[in-house]
Amino acid sequence: MRSEFLPFSKPSISEAEIGAVADVLRSGWITTGAKAAAFEEAFADYCGTPGAVALASATAGMHLLLAAMGIGPGDEVITPSLTWVSTVNLIQLAGAKPVFADIDRDTLMVSAETIAPLISERTRLIIPVHYAGAAADLEPLRQLAAAHNIPLIEDAAHAAGTEYRGEKIGRRGTTIFSFHPIKNITCGEGGMFCSDDASLLEHIRRLKFHGLGVDAFDRSMQGRSPQAEVIEPGFKYNLTDMAAVLGLGQLNRLDEFNKKRTALAERYLELLADIPEVLPLGLPDYPMRHAWHLFVVRLDSDKTAMTRDEFMARLKERNIGTGIHFKAAHRQRYYRETLGLPEGVLPNTEWNSDRLCSLPLFPDMNMEDVDDVAETIKEVLV
Ligand SMILES: *Cc1c(COP(=O)(O)O)cnc(C)c1O
Repeated sequence: MRSEFLPFSKPSISEAEIGAVADVLRSGWITTGAKAAAFEEAFADYCGTPGAVALASATAGMHLLLAAMGIGPGDEVITPSLTWVSTVNLIQLAGAKPVFADIDRDTLMVSAETIAPLISERTRLIIPVHYAGAAADLEPLRQLAAAHNIPLIEDAAHAAGTEYRGEKIGRRGTTIFSFHPIKNITCGEGGMFCSDDASLLEHIRRLKFHGLGVDAFDRSMQGRSPQAEVIEPGFKYNLTDMAAVLGLGQLNRLDEFNKKRTALAERYLELLADIPEVLPLGLPDYPMRHAWHLFVVRLDSDKTAMTRDEFMARLKERNIGTGIHFKAAHRQRYYRETLGLPEGVLPNTEWNSDRLCSLPLFPDMNMEDVDDVAETIKEVLV
């Protein structure tokens, strides 16, 4: 048994990044300023998108988007139930109705086929998730959304560096990235709102800082313009320079991180091919580049009587951490009680929600750690 606990995720922070954060702390300007602006530019460049707004989190980005679009009572938003609860919570809090599309059983992603039948005259927004770092099949989704004149907003929390048909996620359309510590790059907490819609971007920029007609930082003022007035009531979701400078350092290493994640994931795939009880996710058959945010497996209940929770507990006893990404939203207590969706409405979502867990995957892991996890899985399954 390994002597040290292997968490399922751990950020990789360099001494240079720590130094850069310390420099900001010493500089006299620690909140949103030149570093946040530089992070926005660098991230937009990386994706090839015309503009990006740095935010306190991806959840903040989703909140601002719903506010900018005026989503409220009577509106429906289509999204998977197998996602992080933040999206569903915000739809609920806006007074709108989350409408859940089922997912592909093996990629865990919604598709134009599962979404199309759910579109009604109340549908205001479609929010697919690029699951685990793979790309959702955007072409049919874009066509479907365009045919009904409904905006498509990509939840790209897992997709920093992901490509779809040779194009970076974030390059086209509207996307929201997360820099929470488990994501492919982190700035402690943070998010990025990217869009090729200049007026939407301008609206998000205004709403993220009290609805003032200026950003939190005005280059010419080296601060905020004191004369700025509220144009519409807004929120306070700006990203600090302390966080942004970390994000800048991380962004420089994103491709290197993803390369390492890919090598680790390929090793997992090779070793797990010999363990029939454990099913990795299927890989999409359209052209894409995987960012390997998570390595998700399902415990095949046809091949083992062990439950997922027992499996996770036994791995933990042997110093291996795992996570659940995710428990379906409609299975969470609040949504069970308020939505009361009957068992079996979202069969692929439910099947996966009961069986999935994420194995350790982060850039500072090594190949021996992967071997260790696979060996330990064999041990606990007998
Ligand atoms: C992490 C995550 C979010 C939220 O990101 P935050 O930055 O923590 O707000 C949203 N959607 C998905 C799919 C996520 O994994």
